[in-house]
Amino acid sequence: MSANQLPVAFFDAEMERRFPYIPWRDPIHISVTNGIDGWGCRLCIARNGFKAQDAKRLLFPTLLDFQIHQKNLHAVNLLAASG
Ligand SMILES: [Zn+2]
Repeated sequence: MSANQLPVAFFDAEMERRFPYIPWRDPIHISVTNGIDGWGCRLCIARNGFKAQDAKRLLFPTLLDFQIHQKNLHAVNLLAASG
């Protein structure tokens, strides 16, 4: 079974257990050469990889979009934590 076939919650927990020094839940700012930039999810990048042609699909244009993604896919409510 490859990484991207594991259930999301299991994969996330396993990454956090194996690499606790990586801030998995923090957004990472990424820009690619064609002028696209945004906030990437380290968990999704670890799970799926990241190629420049995927930037539009994998990057969130605002931090709010990133937080909504964390809540919906990774079951972490950063919106509540930030007040
Ligand atoms: Zn994600």
